[in-house]
This record gives sequence, C-alpha cells and structure tokens, in this order.
Amino acid sequence: MRFHAVDHPLVAHKLTTLRDRRTDSPTFRRLADELVTLLAYEATRSVRVDEVTVETPVSPAPGVRLGRPVPLVVPVLRAGLGMLDGMVRLLPTAEVGFLGMVRDEGTLVATTYATRLPADLSDREVFVLDPMLATGGTLAAAVRLLLDRGAHAVTCICLLAAPEGVDRMRTELGDHASVAVVTAALDERLNDKGYIVPGLGDAGDRLYGSTD
Ligand code: URA
Repeated sequence: MRFHAVDHPLVAHKLTTLRDRRTDSPTFRRLADELVTLLAYEATRSVRVDEVTVETPVSPAPGVRLGRPVPLVVPVLRAGLGMLDGMVRLLPTAEVGFLGMVRDEGTLVATTYATRLPADLSDREVFVLDPMLATGGTLAAAVRLLLDRGAHAVTCICLLAAPEGVDRMRTELGDHASVAVVTAALDERLNDKGYIVPGLGDAGDRLYGSTD
C-alpha cells in the first residue's frame, strides 16, 4: 500500500482552520470541499489517460484525455458525502457509487448497511472518499469489498489519518501495490474513544451537525 501525506502550505492552511473548534459548519463544508480538490490533484497523479491529438489554431498538438472506463468515485456515507463535490469538480466525467458503513462506537467494528456499486469493477480505478482514517476498520473493509469486485486500483482520499489506521490497512491489505491512501496529514494517535488526536473531532457532526 502506498501512503502519501501531502506536504503543501495551502493544504496545511485549510486543514488548520478545519481543526479549529470555532470553525462553523458552513465554513467547515467549504474548506473540506476545497481541501479535497487539492488532495484529489495528488491522488489522481497516475490516473489512466489515452493519448489523443487535437488541432490548435496553429497545428496538431499531442495531448491526453481521461481513459475509459471512467474512474469510479465512492464516498463512504455519511461523512464521505462532504468530499464528493470537491472530487467530481476535478473529475466531472467520473461515475459515482455509494458505500454506507458505520462503526459501532463501543467495539469500533465497522458494518456495511448499504452498497450502490457496479457489480463488476474489473479494470476500474476507484477513488474512495472517507475523511477520517482512524482505526482503519471501515476503510480496510471498503477497500477489500472493492478489490473483491475486481477493482484494478483503489485510492483512498482522507482528510486525516492516524498511525494505527495506516498500520491496520497495511496489515489487512498486505502489500497491495494498487492500493493507496492520500491524506492531508498523519496525526499523532487515537484516543480511547477511537478519535484521532489532535484530529478535528467528529467529521460527520462538523459537516452536518449532530444527529443525536
Ligand atoms: N471519525 C471521526 O469523525 N473523527 C475521528 O477522529 C475518528 C473517526
């Protein structure tokens, strides 16, 4: 598995405001959206392209277009939805699937409650959106499901990651060369409730408000 924490002042600037507890939901949503677009730029570095030639007003010019089949973007519900617009802005022709996963806050075990994905993912490049790579249980299960359906490459885009989650992804997915995690920062650790420290709190609540 390839792990990449994007080292860029604009990424760090937006992440700092996301972390700040005083940042309200509308601002949090806008910044998460902008941050995803910056992370997506890095995450799509080796996306498949086809070579084409276009005519400029002056002469033919060699270039590239996004290849086929088009990439599949999969937000993990609920918090991954807050990353979808930022991602499809960069990849407007992408197809979008959905994966509903929830972790039991007591056991921290992830279960899948909804899937809306093509049955056959052979040859597909998949981008999974999940803001917080915490214990890694949810994301490892999501990646495993996509690989089992034949996905050719799976790149996870996370706003933040904890070392425990990255280790678990490596342990559960082995040395899968076609799996990658791209994030804005690798934080210190998880606390005893499974929250990333220093983190940014509950990403779903900060995006959409608490549902309790
Ligand atoms: N999920 C969150 O929303 N925040 C964390 O810190 C960990 C998991």
